[in-house]
Amino acid sequence: MTPPPTIRKTAFIACGSNIDPRPNLGRALVQLGAAVERLRTSPTYLTRPWGVAAQAPFLNLVVAVRTAAAPHALLDRLQEIEHALGRTRTVRHGPRTIDLDVLLYGDLVIADERLTIPHPGLIERDFMLVPLLDIAPGLTHPADGRPLAARRHRLRYRQIVARVAP
Ligand code: AMP
Repeated sequence: MTPPPTIRKTAFIACGSNIDPRPNLGRALVQLGAAVERLRTSPTYLTRPWGVAAQAPFLNLVVAVRTAAAPHALLDRLQEIEHALGRTRTVRHGPRTIDLDVLLYGDLVIADERLTIPHPGLIERDFMLVPLLDIAPGLTHPADGRPLAARRHRLRYRQIVARVAP
């Protein structure tokens, strides 16, 4: 019997770090590439910290990936990478070696105790939406079908200071 075809979805992962951010983002990208197929990587942005203001600035970027992992299994992989890079949770929204969030997974809308997709920050935080639009300008919001680009001017949190790498 022919095995069923593997269904692979495109997902977008937000990556952020404010502890040795350059090497840690680099390590996260390498580990992501081992766990899923990396399609595109956005430019990197220097951002003012969100949440807890008295901490070092962040570097943020977004990666498009293709994966056969279901959404919760993808989150498991991301959390394994966070742990492998030494992420510890001391202060909520405080300094972190790496933060990996699922912004979008195909056109799914999920809201359960572990996972909210689209990520709630996507339409509020420039450091999530702007790099996402850099690599996927035509995306629509899976819940309402409207272009995400239209949200760019209605962002609540504008933390980006500069684009620091192409
Ligand atoms: P954070 O401290 O911001 O990394 O939040 C991590 C927690 O958010 C985890 O316990 C996840 O279960 C939960 N979470 C909910 N939705 C998402 C998402 N879209 N991407 C990553 N984590 C999520």
